[in-house]
Amino acid sequence: MFAIDGYENSLVHNHLHPDEPEFDSVDRDQSIRHILGVDADLKYPINTKEDWVGRHLLSNRFRKPRVFLAGDAAHIWVPYAGYGMTAGLACATNLAWLVVAALKGWADPSILDAYEAERHPITEQASHFVMSHAQKMLKARFPVPQNVEALDSEGYAVRTLIGMEADDLNVQQFCGEGLNFGYY
Ligand SMILES: Cc1cc2nc3c(=O)[nH]c(=O)nc-3n(C[C@H](O)[C@H](O)[C@H](O)COP(=O)(O)OP(=O)(O)OC[C@H]3O[C@@H](n4cnc5c(N)ncnc54)[C@H](O)[C@@H]3O)c2cc1C
Repeated sequence: MFAIDGYENSLVHNHLHPDEPEFDSVDRDQSIRHILGVDADLKYPINTKEDWVGRHLLSNRFRKPRVFLAGDAAHIWVPYAGYGMTAGLACATNLAWLVVAALKGWADPSILDAYEAERHPITEQASHFVMSHAQKMLKARFPVPQNVEALDSEGYAVRTLIGMEADDLNVQQFCGEGLNFGYY
């Protein structure tokens, strides 16, 4: 569950188990109540919902003479830490000035080859990082221990362990230096 505005809008993710093949094979309302830990008394509106399938797809080519692929059309992976939209924006900004340079004639048209040469290797690296990270996150799923809020030494030990594991996974996730920014 993620806070969207820190006050009243939240994003709740739920995932299907192998024996739940269809999106509608889960009771969405019950899932939300289970995740939030609330009973039927809580009333809430749904602003929007989206079903998605985790995929790892990378196009072999980002260019076929006059056609350029950018964004999710060129590369798609499990959404993590803003790598998806960021990669799409990086493709678009990379391509835009190359196209202008070729069209306006201040660079040789062969400059357009730079697009695939620059964007394919970095999106391939990002895709492998994100997917291996997604696997680690899946393995780290376990029920929250009952005593997580206990004020005794066992409760403290549980919180310390969960905190360390969350920190370890999330620092890697959100500080992927060289994948979103600063790559060359
Ligand atoms: C659940 C989820 C959460 C995400 N969270 C994040 C996040 O927090 N941060 C982040 O950076 N990224 C996130 N992403 C990834 C991000 O949403 C995508 O990487 C991004 O939207 C891709 O943009 P795009 O323009 O390349 O493709 P799209 O957003 O898919 O846009 C393609 C558009 O083309 C249209 N279209 C398709 N076919 C045709 C056609 N034949 N003719 C005309 N139009 C057509 C489609 O309707 C669509 O509007 C998330 C993705 C999901 C699924």
